[in-house]
Amino acid sequence: MHELALAESIVDAVRTELERYPGAIPIRVGVRIGVMAAVDLDALRFGFDIAVRESGFPRLRLDARIIPGQVTCLACGVETPAESTVFDCPRCGSAQTMLSGSDELDLDALEVERDDDGTTHV
Ligand SMILES: [Zn+2]
Repeated sequence: MHELALAESIVDAVRTELERYPGAIPIRVGVRIGVMAAVDLDALRFGFDIAVRESGFPRLRLDARIIPGQVTCLACGVETPAESTVFDCPRCGSAQTMLSGSDELDLDALEVERDDDGTTHV
């Protein structure tokens, strides 16, 4: 499952990032995903729940957003923004569309809390 591997790589990236902030507890990671990466956000969130359970970061939440691309209808030529790779033309209903956009995945935010009181968060 592609999304589970992706979720694990996001958790790994958080872990790497945290090496620069000893004692910090990650609570939110923001990720931007290009539409051409064809990531199912629901599946990614599900995979993230599994990955985070094994990660030692029980409070970490995923904030994933799709970077929209553009769909061009090959039948009628209309262009519309696309947030999914499954796309029928909104004007003529044709399924013959061409999608363009980014396939990148970027970590764009990491929110942490300091564990100053010395308690263990479970
Ligand atoms: Zn069309």
